[in-house]
Amino acid sequence: MSANPWDCIIIGAGAAGLSAARQLSRNGKRVLVLEARDRVGGRTYTQTAQCGMPVDVGGQWLGPGQNRALALAAELELSLWPQPQHGRNLLRLRGKLSSFSGNVPALSLFSLLDLQINIWRLEAMARRILAEAPHNSAQAADWDRITFAQWMHRHVRSRRTRAMFHAATHAVLATEPEEISMLQFLFYLRSAGGLIPLISAEGGAQEQRIRGGAQQLSEGLASMARSRGAQIRLATPVRQIDQDEDGVNVITDSGTERAQRVVIAMAPSQAANLEFAPGLPTQRRQLMQRMPMGSVIKVILIYDKPFWREAGLSGEMVCDEAPLRMTFDSTPPDSEQGALVGFILGAEAARWSEQPKAIRRGEICRQLTGYFGKAAGHPIEYIEKDWCDDPFAQGCYVGLMAPGVMSRLGHVIREPVGRIHWAGTETATEWNGYIEGAIQSGERVAREVMQVL
Ligand SMILES: Cc1cc2nc3c(=O)[nH]c(=O)nc-3n(C[C@H](O)[C@H](O)[C@H](O)COP(=O)(O)OP(=O)(O)OC[C@H]3O[C@@H](n4cnc5c(N)ncnc54)[C@H](O)[C@@H]3O)c2cc1C
Repeated sequence: MSANPWDCIIIGAGAAGLSAARQLSRNGKRVLVLEARDRVGGRTYTQTAQCGMPVDVGGQWLGPGQNRALALAAELELSLWPQPQHGRNLLRLRGKLSSFSGNVPALSLFSLLDLQINIWRLEAMARRILAEAPHNSAQAADWDRITFAQWMHRHVRSRRTRAMFHAATHAVLATEPEEISMLQFLFYLRSAGGLIPLISAEGGAQEQRIRGGAQQLSEGLASMARSRGAQIRLATPVRQIDQDEDGVNVITDSGTERAQRVVIAMAPSQAANLEFAPGLPTQRRQLMQRMPMGSVIKVILIYDKPFWREAGLSGEMVCDEAPLRMTFDSTPPDSEQGALVGFILGAEAARWSEQPKAIRRGEICRQLTGYFGKAAGHPIEYIEKDWCDDPFAQGCYVGLMAPGVMSRLGHVIREPVGRIHWAGTETATEWNGYIEGAIQSGERVAREVMQVL
């Protein structure tokens, strides 16, 4: 047995770090998890509304193909609720409000054809991406030279179709098409199996909700790891990591812990806040500096009933206006109250993040009244989470890459640096950016660490 008190210290108690902790402790390793916040779950966070309704202000939905997350939910005996989808969806693009049922948006025939052709094009391109090494894909250099917006400019003919792709980029990546490399955009599609699975409720990433909230996945992982002897310390932000020949020192405000190996299980931009001695290799450091987070504020409005259903509306709305870019019905099946969940996304989220909450609330209520009628302006509760000003996320949903980053630096994303190993949804090859990707990354890093211990 080594002289170091811990086999592995895991930094970050999100789904990634806790999956790693579970696997390592299950294999008899001495594991310490250090988490900055006073809770586990990271980018998943379930709050309880005053009326008693659990509300997810972070990650929320699971869908087909997210097999690890679905299996974990089943193992924890969590019930899944289908995303409500009855009624007409609303779409407001370029000032025009329309409603439609099902999956085919209310667009002109020309725009619909343009949309379909370009979805096929994108999905065909995404199939040519190597999920394990997108930077080595045959056309990586070409696709990493442009943004998604530049690609749209070349290929998408209809302005309303372009607005639809804009809305999809907001919804899926919480950023602007001008800010993301085409290569990362295609990799994201590849890792989820296409654009349609990413944007769909039925058959897609928004199909199921977890009764009681998604944070329970991390709480479940934490208790499984604890039951195998892992220690999880909350409210313990890590500041510095020092490696030497025999081990690693992990320095927090309350002291130093020592281990054989360290796993950093957080977004690369968060890891960039840590100090390292010796310093990290240049490419690793540059990658962490060049993966800023997207911008999102998530809001939940609770009403005394889901009144929109009486008007034949589904509660689903997509628009190119501010503040909210989209809403969904988030009413639990066993609730008398109704809930709408809404998202402020991309550049608008960064802008609205600087406003007082009361102004945001007022503007959101005014906006929703225009879509769902007067009742939408009178929620009995308003809950919001601004991920842009969260010190341990500094944005969400995921770390992004501008052109040039993935092809030049993408190869170091999972490459260990001495005794330091990397996890977090940003390192996933399947469902990158999602809870599923976080779990995949945690399981992968646990195997990696097991091999060297
Ligand atoms: C609004 C929103 C909606 C989303 N919707 C969905 C969805 O519907 N479905 C889905 O699958 N995914 C969704 N996601 C994404 C999903 O939540 C994330 O992909 C996933 O939770 C990431 O897990 P992780 O473990 O990789 O990272 P994190 O959850 O970010 O975990 C990293 C942990 O590291 C901690 N940390 C940071 N710095 C330090 C430090 N110095 N010392 C110690 N600890 C530190 C953080 O506090 C955090 O707990 C959403 C995210 C957001 C924000």
